[in-house]
Amino acid sequence: MRKNIVAGNWKMNTTVPEGVTLAKEVNEKLAAITPKCDVIICVPFTHLCPVNEVINSEKLGLGAENCADHAKGAYTGEVSAAMVASTGATYVILGHSERRQYYGETSETLKEKVALAFENGLTPIFCIGEVLEERENGTAFDVVKKQIVDALFHLSAEDFSKIILAYEPVWAIGTGKTATDDQAEEMHAFIRGVIAEKYGQEVADNTSILYGGSCKPGNAKALFAKPNVDGGLIGGAALDAESFMGIVTAF
Ligand code: PEP
Repeated sequence: MRKNIVAGNWKMNTTVPEGVTLAKEVNEKLAAITPKCDVIICVPFTHLCPVNEVINSEKLGLGAENCADHAKGAYTGEVSAAMVASTGATYVILGHSERRQYYGETSETLKEKVALAFENGLTPIFCIGEVLEERENGTAFDVVKKQIVDALFHLSAEDFSKIILAYEPVWAIGTGKTATDDQAEEMHAFIRGVIAEKYGQEVADNTSILYGGSCKPGNAKALFAKPNVDGGLIGGAALDAESFMGIVTAF
């Protein structure tokens, strides 16, 4: 059966020393409990090696927030999936709405990134989600389906099964405006249905679908209680060890 997962997305926050301190705090707090979910932190590229040195990888997974859409070569400033994997990280966030919005990521570039992640043994945490206008004009379900179909449905069932999905309504990211637990459940159930149509019910049932968008200790319990919400991708609240752990322990 699918896993419950809480993953932090630190975005472009913390210096290396600050990030190492935060990772140590999360690691220590995790050592004291037996969480009912997998816990992952996705950190800036510069932080991967030093953070990897201070965490217990048996209890805390490590991921990057992006990787390049080329394997190697003359792409100044880019960081490849192989480089990410060589730090000890095993996850990579792909297709975050901020990457789509500010850096022009498309389903075509994301296909390349997913392939390179797989080649290097990284598990993609693949983000999808509609903007406010699409929610309001009733196209949210079509938009989310298209994001999945265009970037992922060329994959074999075996490869698709390695993906973690994160539904993140863009209007809820960093805005303090959470989707209600019913809105999240409705979309997650829809996504699972889309997967079932293509790959069958077993693959759909085994896919972890995380919710992201202003998830906090105060609303995580209600969200995670929904049958199709398998955890969260956490932005702002992942920058404070206590808040992050408050979400982890919501399971
Ligand atoms: C995110 O960026 O993945 C996210 C969910 O951010 P926040 O929790 O801050 O809304």
